[in-house]
Formats: sequence, C-alpha cells, structure tokens
Amino acid sequence: MMEAAPSVLLSVVVPVYNERENLPLLLTEVRRALDPLGEPYEIICIDDGSTDGSLDVLKELGPIHPMLRILVFEQNAGQSAAFAAGFRAAHGNRIVTLDADLQNDPADIPRLLSELDRFDAAVGWRVKRADPLLKRISSRLGNGVRNWATGEVIADTGCSLKAFRREALAPLKLYRGLHRFLPTLIRMEGFSVTQVRVNHRPRTHGKTKYGVLDRLRATVPDLLAVRWMQSRLIRTSVKEELGPWPS
Ligand code: UDP
Ligand code: MG
Repeated sequence: MMEAAPSVLLSVVVPVYNERENLPLLLTEVRRALDPLGEPYEIICIDDGSTDGSLDVLKELGPIHPMLRILVFEQNAGQSAAFAAGFRAAHGNRIVTLDADLQNDPADIPRLLSELDRFDAAVGWRVKRADPLLKRISSRLGNGVRNWATGEVIADTGCSLKAFRREALAPLKLYRGLHRFLPTLIRMEGFSVTQVRVNHRPRTHGKTKYGVLDRLRATVPDLLAVRWMQSRLIRTSVKEELGPWPS
C-alpha cells in the first residue's frame, strides 16, 4: 500500500511575474532555510501571466523539488490576486509569503515562524532597503501616508516576506492592491501582528514591476477603501442565543 503523503504544516506562497532567472536559486534557498526545520512543507508558486518563460522554468524545477506546486493564471492579475489564489490553495496551518525575485532572504523565514507562537502574523521590515533611492523615498512616503490614514504603525507593509497563522487569513477577501494593507486587514479582524527586521538584497535579475508613479496612483483609492472599511467595521458579536422554544 502507498503511504499517505505527510500532511503539510507549512505553505510558502510566491507570486511570480517574469522572474525566469531567479526561480532556480529561489527554490534552492527556500529549501535550505526550511529543510532543517524537519517538518513537511509546500512551496506554491503562482505564475501571474509571465511572458518570459517563467512557467517553463517552474515546470523543469518540479521534479527536482517535489514540494513545489504551480498555479497558473490565465493572464497577469497582480500580486494581490496571486496571494489570494495561493492562500486559497495552501494546505498549511501556517503560511509564509515572499517575493520571487530573491530580494527577500528565505533565511529569515524561521525567525518569522517562531513569532507565530505569540502572534497571529509576523511581517517583515526591510531595515536596510537595497533599492534605488527614488524607490526608497517613495516607499517611505507610501508607508507614512498609509500609516497616517489608517492609524497604523507598520514600518514596511510593502515587504512581501510575512508569516501568518492560517486563521488570520481565513476571513480576508483581497482586492487588487490590498496586499499592501494585510497587517491592517488582519488587525481589523481582531488578530495580532508583530514586525520582524529582515534582510533585503538588490534585484540582480529581471525588472521591478512597479514604477513610482503607478504605486502612488494606486495608493490613494486603496487608502480610501481601507479607511472606509475601518470606519464601518462591525465590532459587535452575538452575546447570547435564545431558542428554539418547546412547542
Ligand atoms: N509580481 C506579480 N505580479 C505582478 C507584479 C509583481 O506576481 O503583477 C511579483 C513579482 O514577480 C515579485 C513580487 O511580486 O515576485 C514583487 O514584485 P517586484 O519585485 O517587481 O516589486 P518591488 O520589489 O520592486 O517592489
Ligand atoms: Mg522586488
């Protein structure tokens, strides 16, 4: 009889949009970080409509890395869509997200996971951003405006390297752009979030998918949406249930 597959406890979710050259090392690094933990895990790569052959590379990597699962989008749908699809597919009771471009360092994952003993989510904070000056400035501005508008104190919501308990993601419905507000959305549902300082590395292959202007343009409507949600948050719960009555 075939042995049942060991149940997966941890899912790593990675949105991939034209990251061909980065994928082989990404998988090697994630395995190097997670194998020593000695628990079964899966790596879910979401191909977000890549046109550079990323999907072919992923398919070649499958046989080398049996824990790799590949979800393929029909067309480019954005990072929030990719995260949402990965969350839905994930089997783990803990879920880690990171970028495919090797800017996040998988070696940080165990430290994020250890925070999940005490918190429902642990979000990365790239203390030394390895990005061009213009991007660092616009990101700082973005975080400042987001925190001001939402009353948050999250230093770096744009950092994809995050770890979540499954329950903290379950109630969320993501819309395009809302991945930048994950810590806020999670806290709105009553879950706890902590920040963890993480490493950041320069992008050596492929190109950034976001220009400074698109990011700023997207931020304003997204902010208004999240502010609206915060102002309309339903905070009550059923205190008591009465009935059914004997007839
Ligand atoms: N990404 C994606 N779909 C998109 C844009 C980006 O899946 O429409 C992925 C991309 O492949 C990368 C991550 O999201 O793994 C972050 O993108 P990027 O590195 O371009 O962002 P930056 O680090 O420049 O903020
Ligand atoms: Mg990047």
